[in-house]
Amino acid sequence: MQAVICPECGREVDSDDLYEISGRKMCDDCAMERQNRPQPCDVWAVRIATNTRRSLGMQGTEGLTEKQKAIYDFIKSRRGATLEELMQQFNLKENEIRKEIAILRHCELARAHKRGNEIVYVPWDFEEVIGRSDR
Ligand SMILES: [Zn+2]
Repeated sequence: MQAVICPECGREVDSDDLYEISGRKMCDDCAMERQNRPQPCDVWAVRIATNTRRSLGMQGTEGLTEKQKAIYDFIKSRRGATLEELMQQFNLKENEIRKEIAILRHCELARAHKRGNEIVYVPWDFEEVIGRSDR
């Protein structure tokens, strides 16, 4: 164990807790904050995910991360889930859920759907059954 100073925030941390993110050393807090910040290059992550899946001939949830699969399964089993429900279920921040949903949407697995005054995320091929409530 060795105490070092985080160059980003000046906090004293254990050297094990210092990470190198895009060539810069920083503590876990700074690294976390940086990762949670929405970044324009997320679009590329989505494109790469989609193109990779296509080129590998993947279908359905093939090639998704475990988290993305779990979100998809949850949406499917609930016949739609709100952002809040997903945040609670997966213990993720709003922007993290949005990022995963964006990938599911680009893979044509999930989409946003307006139910009453709420926006719910539903499977891509979901159809609302009017007058039936099986939630
Ligand atoms: Zn720091």
